[in-house]
Amino acid sequence: MAKRDYYEVLGVEKNASADEIKKAYRKAAVKYHPDKNPGDKEAEEKFKEAAEAYDVLSNDDKRARYDQFGHAGMDGSAGGGFGGFGGGGFTMEDIFRNFGDIFGGHFGGGFGGFGGGGRSSGRSVNRGTDLRVKVRLTLKEVAEGCTKKIKISKLMACDQCGGTGAKDAQSYSTCPNCHGAGYTVETVNSFFGRAQTQRVCPTCGGEGKVITSPCSKCRGEGVVRGEEVVEIRIPAGVAEGMQLSVSGKGNAARHGGINGDLLVVIEEEPNPELIRDGNDLLHNLKIPVTTAILGGEVEVPTIDSKARIKIAAGTQAGKVLRLKGKGLPEVNGYGSRGDILVIVDIFIPTKINSEEKKLLEKLSAQPNFKKMDGARGEQNIFERMRNFFG
Ligand SMILES: [Zn+2]
Ligand SMILES: [Zn+2]
Repeated sequence: MAKRDYYEVLGVEKNASADEIKKAYRKAAVKYHPDKNPGDKEAEEKFKEAAEAYDVLSNDDKRARYDQFGHAGMDGSAGGGFGGFGGGGFTMEDIFRNFGDIFGGHFGGGFGGFGGGGRSSGRSVNRGTDLRVKVRLTLKEVAEGCTKKIKISKLMACDQCGGTGAKDAQSYSTCPNCHGAGYTVETVNSFFGRAQTQRVCPTCGGEGKVITSPCSKCRGEGVVRGEEVVEIRIPAGVAEGMQLSVSGKGNAARHGGINGDLLVVIEEEPNPELIRDGNDLLHNLKIPVTTAILGGEVEVPTIDSKARIKIAAGTQAGKVLRLKGKGLPEVNGYGSRGDILVIVDIFIPTKINSEEKKLLEKLSAQPNFKKMDGARGEQNIFERMRNFFG
């Protein structure tokens, strides 16, 4: 595939200033950042392409060579000691290691959607670690969605040095191990001949420079432990064990770079009266035996208050009454709400007084109580439930 012109990739003029190039790259990087385009291969390619263009155009030497020879000047053979990323293109790891600082402050706050997707491995060098917190929600909060403010103890960029870890701009020297390249090249003799492998410089961690006078507050780490109150917006309909990720609210990276994410794990506070079954809520209702026979009105709990429902005369135990749309919403906001299913049970008193006993004995001699007409044709509770839920 033909390589696109680097200026075209970043959308800048041939005579663009270093600042314009940096701005253009930052814009492209933010647009195609993998955190914003999870799983999107095309965005990833664009992200890499922009990084490659920026790598060349942000370096005077490389840019001059590119201007003169075009892409042909960029592969290893033409350059003489042109290490970097010439022929093979960038890996995501390279990009975050080398240009991670450009993202500083540009990612954060946004609601990252649902986590659980695999984070691409190996870009830990300039990325802070993720933090995980649990939030416990009542049924009402689940039903309506809510905003939670949570105080989080985390690594934050040091305010004294601005996250660099250095006392000031003069507190650096070129890394003695890699001489500023950020990587080392090792020649390995193998069965197939001599091969060169490139690895992150262990002395400077790929930064190409080392700190000579560290910041007194963070002792050169660039991060300090602090607390932040993070506001988390939780959509309606979430369920136990779901994980939301808040992009950029995790730990800050050492010496700048992008923050990790805050992973929010949902816990449900059990509700004693309404038991969740997907988006439906089940309520076990006991009614007096007389109400079951005579019919009447009873009160049932709903998510935020109570409702009165009618019990038809002759209601059997196990009957399921449906309060349509009184359950929980779908988490993605689509589809209809679940229902409240009221499962009727009949309360049999365990203690009765002598007068009640007399009445019941009289009642039990009556034909409809004696013969149990129709009982044989009735489905039992289990069949009824199976038919209902099946
Ligand atoms: Zn510091
Ligand atoms: Zn080094």
